[in-house]
Amino acid sequence: MRAAKSFASKLASSEYLQTTQHIYVDVYGSLALTGKGHGTDKAILNGLEGESPETVDPDEVLPRMDKILRTGTLHINGNHERPFKFEEHFRFRMKERLPYHANAMLFTARDADDQPLFEEIYYSIGGGFIVEDRNKALPAETNTQIPYPFSSAKELFALCEKHGITIAELTLANESAWRSEEGVRAGVLNIAQTMMECIQRGCHANGTLPGGLNVQRRAPALYAKLYKENQANPKTHVEILQWLNLYALAVNEENAAGGRIVTAPTNGAAGIIPATLSYYLNFCSESNEQGIIDFLLTASTIGNLYKKGASLSAAEVGCQGEVGVACSMAAGALAAVLGGTLIQVENAAEMAMEHNLGLTCDPIGGLVQIPCIERNAMGTVKAMNCAHFALMESGGHARVPLDKVIATMLETGKNMHNDYKETSLGGLARSILHEALPNC
Ligand code: SF4
Repeated sequence: MRAAKSFASKLASSEYLQTTQHIYVDVYGSLALTGKGHGTDKAILNGLEGESPETVDPDEVLPRMDKILRTGTLHINGNHERPFKFEEHFRFRMKERLPYHANAMLFTARDADDQPLFEEIYYSIGGGFIVEDRNKALPAETNTQIPYPFSSAKELFALCEKHGITIAELTLANESAWRSEEGVRAGVLNIAQTMMECIQRGCHANGTLPGGLNVQRRAPALYAKLYKENQANPKTHVEILQWLNLYALAVNEENAAGGRIVTAPTNGAAGIIPATLSYYLNFCSESNEQGIIDFLLTASTIGNLYKKGASLSAAEVGCQGEVGVACSMAAGALAAVLGGTLIQVENAAEMAMEHNLGLTCDPIGGLVQIPCIERNAMGTVKAMNCAHFALMESGGHARVPLDKVIATMLETGKNMHNDYKETSLGGLARSILHEALPNC
C-alpha cells in the first residue's frame, strides 16, 4: 500500500499524469506467489487510490477494491480517474524475480498507445519497509546524527554499559534526534494503544476468515470461555497461558481479516509483541505506563539489530525472520521491563531466536492463517518463557552472543530451500493445500 501510494502521488504531481491512460502493476517472486493470500492486490489498489496503512479504514479496503474491479475505474491518488482492468493491468509474475529482493513490484504509467511514460520499482523488504530501487538511498533521516550510533548488539550493550543507561533510554535519546522526546513517548503510547484496540476487536469479531480455507475465527469463543470459566483473574500458570494464546490469536485473526494491526516486526508475526505486552500489563504487578514505553523501545531496538544484521523478510530467511524475530524482541523487552540486567536481556533475546532457528514459512494457500495464527501464540509463550528463564540466572553462562545468533539466522535463511521462504510451495502449504483448497 505504501509503495503504490508513493507511486500514485509521484505520478499525480508529474508532467506524465495528463497523458497517462493506464497503470500497470507487476508483482514478482514471493510477492506474486503469496500475493492473493497476503492481500497484496487489495493493498496495492488501495494505495494507488491514495490510501495509507495508518489511516485507511480497514472496513473500506475490500469494498474499495471491489468497486475498482466492478466499475473498471481507478482514481489515481484519490482523484484522477482512469480505466483499469484487473486481469489485464495487474500481473502476478510468479516465475520471475527481480535481482535485489524476492518481494518486488513494478508500477508503470502508459499512454493511449501503451507506451511507458513513467515507472518505478519498489521492494517490500519486510517490517513494512519499502525501498524504491536498489540504487536509491534510504530516507534522508538516516543521515541525522544520533547520540548513540551502533550497528551490532555488542556495540549497543557496550554503549549502555559505558553510559549507565538502559536500552530503552538509549533508544529514546536516539529517537529524540528526529522528534521531541515527548513526541517519541506519545508515538510509542499510540502504538501500544493500537495494539490493544486490535486485541479488543479480535476478541469480539466472529465469523470465517477470508480466502477460501474456511478458517473460523477462534478468539471470540476462547475469550467467552475464559470469562465464563471465571478466568478474568487467572491464578494458575495454565490459565495465564490461555490468555496469552487468546491475545495472539485475536491480533493474528484481525491481520488475516485485513484489520488494522501494528507491523511489529511484520504483519504475519504481529501478535507476539502485543500479546507479550498484554501479559506485562495484565499479569505483572509492577507494570506501568513507563514500562509500556520501555517495552516497546527495547523491542524495537532488538528488532533493528535483526533488520541490520539479518532480515525481517520471510521471503529471504523464512519464518525465523518474522515469528522468530518477534519472539526475540518480545523476550528481551519483557526481561528488560521486569528488571533484567543487560546480559539477562541479551540472554532472553538470544534464547528466543536460538530456538526458532530454521523456522520455515509455509502458509497454506498463501494465506496468513495456517500455521501463522497459532504460531504467534506459540511465539508469545516462548517469549514469556525465555524472559523468565533468563531472569532466573545471571546470564554469565551464555555461550552464544545475540550477534552470533542473528548471523546464524541469516546464514540458515540463505541455506533454506526457496520452497520454505514465503512461496507456499513447500511444507504445510504443499502437503495440505489440495485437501484444504480442492480447486487449487
Ligand atoms: S509462516 Fe511465518 S513468515 Fe510465513 S506467512 Fe506465516 S507468520 Fe509469516
